[in-house]
Amino acid sequence: MTASVPQLVALLDGSLVDVETPLLRADDLGVVRGDGVFDVASCRAGHVIDLPAHLDRLATSARILSLPEPDRAGYERAVAALVAAWDWDAHPEATVRLVETRGPEFGGDATCWAMMQPVSDAVLREREGVRVVVLDRGHEAEETSELPWLLPGAKSLSYGINMAAKRWAKANGADDAIFVTPSGRLLEGPTSALVVDLDGELVTPKQDGILPSTTLRALMDAATEAGLSVRFDELPREVLSQVRGAWLLSSGRIVAPILSVDGVDLPRSPLHGQVARMLRVPGAE
Ligand code: PLP
Repeated sequence: MTASVPQLVALLDGSLVDVETPLLRADDLGVVRGDGVFDVASCRAGHVIDLPAHLDRLATSARILSLPEPDRAGYERAVAALVAAWDWDAHPEATVRLVETRGPEFGGDATCWAMMQPVSDAVLREREGVRVVVLDRGHEAEETSELPWLLPGAKSLSYGINMAAKRWAKANGADDAIFVTPSGRLLEGPTSALVVDLDGELVTPKQDGILPSTTLRALMDAATEAGLSVRFDELPREVLSQVRGAWLLSSGRIVAPILSVDGVDLPRSPLHGQVARMLRVPGAE
């Protein structure tokens, strides 16, 4: 991001703060330990998509990390201030990031803010398709769900590994990654959920030890209305050579069809248009 990218920051009292104004102390545990939680919702033309689901997940993440319960009304105030101040004509698609850190190391309140940023052209291009590599996450899914200190299901600020996986993908000729367990079960992307088209049925990995995606939830709800189903199942890595297509789902990018896996081309699912419409991808409706 360059300095010319418009970004807005709001505090939980609803006041706007210039993005260049420092908000954190140097000893804030969110910075020095990645100790905190966040969530990201998409916003289109003045409307925040599924804000209650993101506030619910922020609260769940905070509970998992034993952080103070996020001030829901405060985040709603901050988001309302950002929505009111954003230039929707110039940037019709944006994301809003909600952050709560544990605060200063030797005591003090949690540090909380919300930030709005435009969806970048790079992210918009991902809607045309992404090449992925499959990367070993190093432990089994069930193990993670039984080890609370690994924070399964929390969106914590410790995203260093997730970002490293994306860098690894980019350094190796791809755009993104899919994590797999050592025994070969597909999980999720570093910042996305995985859905595959298996003989015309939409299937997504069981939620053991992975983040519940709000975009996936929206797809499930819309699919049910459209008479399609999205089911959870164990997906072995080899399934990727049998699918009719596959997608990465996440709030900002919404849905990105997977073009190739480890350099091997994947077909585009005949359901792609329908999936994009169900997720209200701009231009697909
Ligand atoms: N899984 C992980 C690890 C993520 O970080 C994200 C979002 O960033 C997702 C899945 C997708 O979640 P959502 O659809 O709520 O954006």
